[in-house]
Amino acid sequence: MIPPSAAALAALKHALGPGGWTEDAAEIGPSLTEWRGRWSGATPLMLLPRSTDEVARAVRACADHRIPIVTQGGGTGLVGGQIPFGEVLLSTRRLRAIRVVSPLDDALTVEAGVTLLEAQQAAAAIDRRFPLGLASEGTATIGGAVSSNAGGTGVVRYGMMRDLVLGLEAVLPNGEVFHGLKRLRKDNTGYDLKQLLIGAEGTLGVVTAATLKLHPALRSRATAVVGIDTPEAAVELLARAKAETGGGVEAFELMKRIGLELVLKHIPDTREPLDSTPPWCVLVELGAGQPGAAEAALEALLADAFERGLITDAAIAQNEAQRAAFWKVREEQSAGQKPEGPGWKHDVSVPVSRIAHFLEEATAAVLRFEPGARVSAFGHVGDGNIHYDVMRPPHADPAAFMARQPEGSRIVHDIVARYDGSISAEHGLGRLKTDEARRYKSPAEVAAVQAIRAALDPNRIMNPAVLF
Ligand SMILES: Cc1cc2nc3c(=O)[nH]c(=O)nc-3n(C[C@H](O)[C@H](O)[C@H](O)COP(=O)(O)OP(=O)(O)OC[C@H]3O[C@@H](n4cnc5c(N)ncnc54)[C@H](O)[C@@H]3O)c2cc1C
Repeated sequence: MIPPSAAALAALKHALGPGGWTEDAAEIGPSLTEWRGRWSGATPLMLLPRSTDEVARAVRACADHRIPIVTQGGGTGLVGGQIPFGEVLLSTRRLRAIRVVSPLDDALTVEAGVTLLEAQQAAAAIDRRFPLGLASEGTATIGGAVSSNAGGTGVVRYGMMRDLVLGLEAVLPNGEVFHGLKRLRKDNTGYDLKQLLIGAEGTLGVVTAATLKLHPALRSRATAVVGIDTPEAAVELLARAKAETGGGVEAFELMKRIGLELVLKHIPDTREPLDSTPPWCVLVELGAGQPGAAEAALEALLADAFERGLITDAAIAQNEAQRAAFWKVREEQSAGQKPEGPGWKHDVSVPVSRIAHFLEEATAAVLRFEPGARVSAFGHVGDGNIHYDVMRPPHADPAAFMARQPEGSRIVHDIVARYDGSISAEHGLGRLKTDEARRYKSPAEVAAVQAIRAALDPNRIMNPAVLF
């Protein structure tokens, strides 16, 4: 990339005025390295706008002088799209206002730099629920979650960010403001621009605020870990759980024995959730609007599942501490693998009905390619989203194993594609997967995306290295 000229940067600084930007290396530094240390970038300038108007002025100056921009929220993205490599970095950390709280509309309007946790808390304060929960929710921002169309464990019931946004405000690549902060459930007036911006990974503009869709607060919640013999049984249990509870499944998370063992081995304060050691476990959580209803539904569901031979063991959380302990073994699945060395990670989705076949075929193919490799599959069964991770055979050299990743991942992704799946279920493409995604998108789709992008951003200044 051609670095912006000194004159162009001077014009940009002038547009924001003193205090609206920084060149201080100590202040910028932490924003240049991805949280796992996987990418380390560089930028000539960090922009720190305090309002939508300041974002608009900054983007207009960038458009006028063809200065490329990377927008960054909490920096927790997993595909490197938030790290600049020579682009100007626009941070949303000062866009922090909670603008409108509207219980009668079941809606909450917040600025882009508000964290997911803060949005959840603002909803809880009016006895409502913003149900997008991620392990990174204390840092991840609304702008980042919108732009990466984030998912998480509640998607089975509430959908992804795409389903949780009623309206958006954004600065488009020419510096014009899209004022779309509607609170409407119905608005059939042609193209839905907000949906184009959701999941655009910062390529179509800077999201400055969002109106979020709220749900009723839960009056009861019940959580269990169950043992199962096969992923097929998990899929059948999920179907029964959804049917029997009228859609009250809050989470349905699959874990393989090896993943659980690594958590128990490496993560302090964790323990076996069950008395037995089944090959697979599911963490199932139900929620309901009436006190006691979720507990009763969970007991009935598990009793029926035992009778049908779907589950082999079960433990129901008796209190909040036990519930937290169950969730901990699920949430630490990635951390549990870390001490075993680097692995081939895949965030894939397939139709729910095909999860079991996919797992069987992919694992057989991986083991033919890398005998002795250890496969830990875990994730959101309700969305068909499996985090399919391959760890090296115990005595293999880590560097040699990682050198085989491109070929190994290609095997997994080709199988995903044959199952009509996606090679990125919830993390986006970013710098990591844009090239790989080209292989699986049709030329017509890539061309349409490029045409939309060129129409809105003819000089490709918005996150230029990301997407097509
Ligand atoms: C421990 C952990 C667990 C996670 N679990 C999940 C999970 O379960 N599901 C899931 O989907 N993700 C998960 N993530 C990924 C990540 O947290 C989410 O994608 C999150 O929504 C990113 O928000 P952020 O503010 O950190 O965005 P950033 O990392 O700052 O940015 C992400 C992308 O959005 C763009 N962007 C950010 N803000 C804006 C804006 N205002 N306007 C335009 N573009 C913008 C960036 O340019 C970048 O391309 C996890 C991450 C961690 C560290």
